[in-house]
Amino acid sequence: MVVILARDGPTCVWCARVFRGQAVPTTDHLVPRVKGGPSWLENEVAACRGCNRLRGHVSPVDWLGECLRLGWNPDVERVSRVLTLLEAAIAERGGQRRARTYVQSQLRRLAKG
Ligand SMILES: [Zn+2]
Repeated sequence: MVVILARDGPTCVWCARVFRGQAVPTTDHLVPRVKGGPSWLENEVAACRGCNRLRGHVSPVDWLGECLRLGWNPDVERVSRVLTLLEAAIAERGGQRRARTYVQSQLRRLAKG
């Protein structure tokens, strides 16, 4: 978690709340574990417990849309950047076939806006 916060800053990727006191960061997997997402730093972002629980296994792009509908200020750029890091990590390390397809489809949807 320390590494994620150093990379991305001390805020929830979905609701932009600053982590302090009761607002404790949790590790949220951009590609959900049940969808084949690896437990790699490149698949992990910091989210507050409430956002992590609410999102469940919804895809990052669908969940960004939901955050916007809720009037939140999600960090779209961070999601895009970390998904790009994950795509590069998969290309370098190989394997992760399910996650690779998933990431590519998410990045295509983000590029379309
Ligand atoms: Zn949050």
